[in-house]
Amino acid sequence: MTDEIVDVVIVGAGPSSAAAAWSLSETNLSIMCLEQGDWMDPANYPSTKRNWEVLRQKEFSPSPNVRNLVADYPINDNNSPIAIANFNAVGGGTILYSAHFPRFHPSDFKVRTLDGVADDWPLDYAQLEPFYSENDRMMGVSGLAGDPAYPPSASPPGGYPVPLGRVGETMARGFNKLGWHWWTSYSAIITRPYKGRQPCINLGPCDTGCAQGAKSSVDVTYWPLAIRNGVQLKTHCRVREITVNESGKATGVIYYDEKGVERRQSARLIILGCNGVGTPRLLLNSRSTNFPDGLANRSGLVGKNLMLHPWGYVEGVFEEPLQAHVGPQGCCILSQEFYETDIRRNFVRGYTMQVLRGPGPVQTALSGVARREIPWGIDHHRVFASRFGRTVGMAIIVEDLPELHNTVTLDPKLVDANGIPAPKITYKLSENSKRMLAHGLEKGQEVMSAAGSHKNFSFGPVRHAGWHLMGTARMGFNPETSVVNEWGRCHDVENLFIVDSSIFVTSSGVNPVSTSQALALYIAKMIKKNTSNVADLKS
Ligand SMILES: Cc1cc2nc3c(=O)[nH]c(=O)nc-3n(C[C@H](O)[C@H](O)[C@H](O)COP(=O)(O)OP(=O)(O)OC[C@H]3O[C@@H](n4cnc5c(N)ncnc54)[C@H](O)[C@@H]3O)c2cc1C
Ligand code: SF4
Repeated sequence: MTDEIVDVVIVGAGPSSAAAAWSLSETNLSIMCLEQGDWMDPANYPSTKRNWEVLRQKEFSPSPNVRNLVADYPINDNNSPIAIANFNAVGGGTILYSAHFPRFHPSDFKVRTLDGVADDWPLDYAQLEPFYSENDRMMGVSGLAGDPAYPPSASPPGGYPVPLGRVGETMARGFNKLGWHWWTSYSAIITRPYKGRQPCINLGPCDTGCAQGAKSSVDVTYWPLAIRNGVQLKTHCRVREITVNESGKATGVIYYDEKGVERRQSARLIILGCNGVGTPRLLLNSRSTNFPDGLANRSGLVGKNLMLHPWGYVEGVFEEPLQAHVGPQGCCILSQEFYETDIRRNFVRGYTMQVLRGPGPVQTALSGVARREIPWGIDHHRVFASRFGRTVGMAIIVEDLPELHNTVTLDPKLVDANGIPAPKITYKLSENSKRMLAHGLEKGQEVMSAAGSHKNFSFGPVRHAGWHLMGTARMGFNPETSVVNEWGRCHDVENLFIVDSSIFVTSSGVNPVSTSQALALYIAKMIKKNTSNVADLKS
């Protein structure tokens, strides 16, 4: 049994944990991170192989239930129209993510004040702004300054956005025709050599891992620096529960190592970064006399208010060849024309339109055949050629509002390979989200047509697109209505912190990693500032 006490144990090695670990590694604290997955070998990413589109349906699927790898735990998402997507390894979801990296808008922190719904955050955009900027520098974010949708100070440091390509130029013409906002994507993808990494070469399949190392997954950004500063990162370690003493202070974790041997790690302070499903699962699995309903759950809100960003997909087919499958898959241009509340629409809050590149050859053929648009037989190749490289995709990212009945609970039967109870998702779309999604799908088709598409298609919510997991351990000033305080510290357990997007109060209409990492850096700074009173740590 390992049991030499460390100052800080971090559970999970995804983007939120990595940012917190790096920030804390500037102190003389002893820090250990326990991650259930392994390091990835970029040489084995699907993009280095000809069958990359097949591998994406199997061991590189975004669904843990499809991958079913040793690092994965099952998730019962039968009771939700949206299935959970994640990746369990050093880097977490950033191994597969598209690296679309917009920040929240200032209004996202004040939805109660502005729109009378949900709650305001206990902090605001201005407080987070220095941490957004620091994170952009650490990750290597590319983009263009001057976007009218954001405060003037919100400029990505990298400049040199990812190239628009023919897809971006064509879609930008469509947005211009309608007089709608568009801007080059904020992309956690380097387009010039940066901090020893080589730039993007427009291979395309970012969502299966970037073998070039241009996509800023945290195994190539934060972790090497944190480890150089002395952080110990232990892989194949799955944490079962957090232990507490009689006075309700966290004392350490119990985990299983690679061989399935149960071990204990004592710590003065514990930080969770297991995502909006993994974090409530761990808290609910940590029951004790002091916390019979799960750790830090005196409010009853652990696992409640799950927000998933219902995802709409719009597709347009163009006559002219656009080389649509070339370039970073999820990063091209975005529009926030319909981001802020407009009372003339029949919903509050809004959404982002994220212009994607087109599908690869296998996906083009499969979806064309499934929709009976590409026939088998003599016409197959001709119709396929009229689609491939000429099809443009667009995601509609709908702001989901928190609702108590959308939950992560423990499944009464399902367990992972170590026998630990697995999470169960219960989720349904609100009327507001449904109306917003319908609006986004309609506007997406409108801009596709304005850009010159001769055939449009749209649907939503997309089932396998539950990749933004938020709200299940929300922040707030009041211990009765929130799980953590305004700097990520659990109200009920003074030496337990959460840094992932579980703590989001609302979801915004943008992809979450930029904000969850900015929050993690902010929380780490607050921990450093208050070390003497959080856990008797040496400063
Ligand atoms: C295909 C795909 C595309 C995406 N595209 C974007 C995008 O373009 N932009 C964006 O902002 N977001 C995107 N996302 C979402 C983004 O990846 C996640 O929001 C983000 O990774 C969450 O970060 P996290 O640190 O909270 O948790 P994760 O990244 O999920 O990391 C948590 C880590 O904790 C580990 N862990 C969990 N439980 C335990 C345990 N009990 N013991 C030990 N280890 C544990 C897991 O193995 C995992 O490695 C995408 C996700 C996917 C899957
Ligand atoms: S397009 Fe660029 S970022 Fe995406 S996988 Fe290829 S090299 Fe990496």
